[in-house]
Amino acid sequence: MSGALLTDVSPPAAEQPTEAEWAAAVSAITRLPADGRVLLICHVNPDGDALGSMLGFGLGLRQLGVRHLQATFPGRPEVPEPLQAMPGLDLLVPATAADPDPDLVICFDVAGVSRLGDLADRLDRAGAALVLDHHASNTRFGGIHLVDPDAAATSVVVEKLLVRLGVPLDAEIAECLYIALATDTGSFRFDMTTPAVHEMAARLLATGISPGEISRRIFDTRPFGAVRLYGDVLGRTQLEPSAAGGVGLVWTYATLADLARHGQRPYTLEPLIDSVRCTAEADVSCVLKQVTEAEWAVSMRSKGATDVSAVAVALGGGGHRLAAGFTGRGSAPEIVDAIRAELARAGRPGAAGAGMPSADLQDRE
Ligand code: AMP
Ligand code: MN
Ligand code: MN
Repeated sequence: MSGALLTDVSPPAAEQPTEAEWAAAVSAITRLPADGRVLLICHVNPDGDALGSMLGFGLGLRQLGVRHLQATFPGRPEVPEPLQAMPGLDLLVPATAADPDPDLVICFDVAGVSRLGDLADRLDRAGAALVLDHHASNTRFGGIHLVDPDAAATSVVVEKLLVRLGVPLDAEIAECLYIALATDTGSFRFDMTTPAVHEMAARLLATGISPGEISRRIFDTRPFGAVRLYGDVLGRTQLEPSAAGGVGLVWTYATLADLARHGQRPYTLEPLIDSVRCTAEADVSCVLKQVTEAEWAVSMRSKGATDVSAVAVALGGGGHRLAAGFTGRGSAPEIVDAIRAELARAGRPGAAGAGMPSADLQDRE
């Protein structure tokens, strides 16, 4: 990918949604006709923030009396097992059954059109398109933007919009938003865990939801096959202390054969990056997850010295400064070569990915 792209699409300075944007979002919803059709979409391979934000907002719209309401995401209609008890799942339809021309489409946790897959056409076909997101790399697709790069999760934006719509938090909405917030803050460990985040968590917990039970279900339960799979994949992890301009790279990969051998679904691999990024000797961590013969979902993390979002954008993806990803094509060694090359570029003074830890440190999805 060219250097021009790296600089062309580097994220703009963080800007909050304006009052005009909030007003436009509220009126897009309150001015829906009585039989208005609303389609909610979150990103492909949804995580806790994508699903939780979408379903929590969907439950809020239901409270407002929106009757023709669907929630969906592109690709295979498979909800990761840990998220299968989330409230509001009855709103979900497969992408193939999604309303082709809704009055309003609302996107959640989607940084760019490519994350909408085959559902991207709804942006043109819908009467209006509202985008709720917190990615600094958000490309400002769609018509109405509520994009807050300072928000720890998209669910922070969702809660604010629900307040403006006069929807009170009930336990079901709260559980969705809590799962979203806990997912993207790494269970309230990452730098974006501000006082405001804890205040939001307090409002959610005040509805009576059970944080211990939710955390066990979402983060601390996996099949034995997954534990064995992790053993195999972590066992082949490579450390390159001099890579990434000297701050170090640690990486591993998981193949479709690994998944098949242990009888596991691809989403089982999502938490794996958290084990790899523990490595003290490397700032940058990567996990390559094979999706098809020559296609890999790549997760990248930094501890603070590297803007992995710039690297991911240069390789066709996106994300946040400290948590980013892209779709890699070719063999695993070829993709790691490309990452090494971009990291070396990013490590040079003045390059887009260079830099010391800054005040806007983020580690969220
Ligand atoms: P993940 O490593 O999948 O947890 O993703 C980390 C961050 O990178 C999230 O903010 C994602 O939105 C973003 N990301 C991951 N994969 C892609 C991709 N293929 N294109 C754009 N952004 C991505
Ligand atoms: Mn998110
Ligand atoms: Mn996400």
